[in-house]
Amino acid sequence: MTGKNRKLVIAIDGPAGAGKSTIAARLARKLGYVNLESGAMYRALGLKAIQNDASFDDEGELLKLARSSRISLEPRVDGNRVLLDGANVSERIRERDVTEAASRVSVHPAVRAWMVDRQREMGKQGGVIMEGRDIGTVVFPNAEVKIFLEATPDVRVERRLKQRGADAGKAKTVAAELQQRDQRDRTRAASPLVPAPDAVILDSTHLTIDQVVQRAEELVRKKMGE
Ligand code: C5P
Repeated sequence: MTGKNRKLVIAIDGPAGAGKSTIAARLARKLGYVNLESGAMYRALGLKAIQNDASFDDEGELLKLARSSRISLEPRVDGNRVLLDGANVSERIRERDVTEAASRVSVHPAVRAWMVDRQREMGKQGGVIMEGRDIGTVVFPNAEVKIFLEATPDVRVERRLKQRGADAGKAKTVAAELQQRDQRDRTRAASPLVPAPDAVILDSTHLTIDQVVQRAEELVRKKMGE
């Protein structure tokens, strides 16, 4: 398939709070693509671990839990609806305890390998925007478009506060949590958060959502035209 009918795979990676989900959802709408939030899958497993009182450090137990789980993402215009064993957990997985759990269960190589298999299956038809931490490096190393979305820590904290409707008094706590999560993602041995060598780094610190979406769309259109 050539030209604008080509169904590309678009990878968007970057740290928490950089705006990946918002950008992916908006871009998907413009292109008629499906957006998949890989982080929601790690969150669903984190929730499953909490429900089963499993240790976040027990790789074997977590893998067993993953294998016995049904985790599905249903793309919607404003993000993914997330089902865990048939239950809608879309809101529950955004809570603090699950956020921490997701960050911890995702360090394990066996857990990641299980997730990556599923993510590849979900994206293999193309016409998808998958966002996460290792999409351009591990899940789809041949993705036609790779974007690494950055923003300064201060701006990421500000965006998170706004998203949660939290007041500025929570800034310190949110900053500490974000920093800890990032540190874990960037320093873990298994597929750490790094830009793929062929990723375009987009710093959204001083850009509006519309501007970031526009830049991303330009990259995609250029690729489609090749
Ligand atoms: O993207 P989100 O913040 O929802 O992801 C939750 C957690 O899942 C992250 O803190 C990260 O540790 C992990 N994650 C990952 N690899 C991905 C997506 C998310 O390790 N591809």
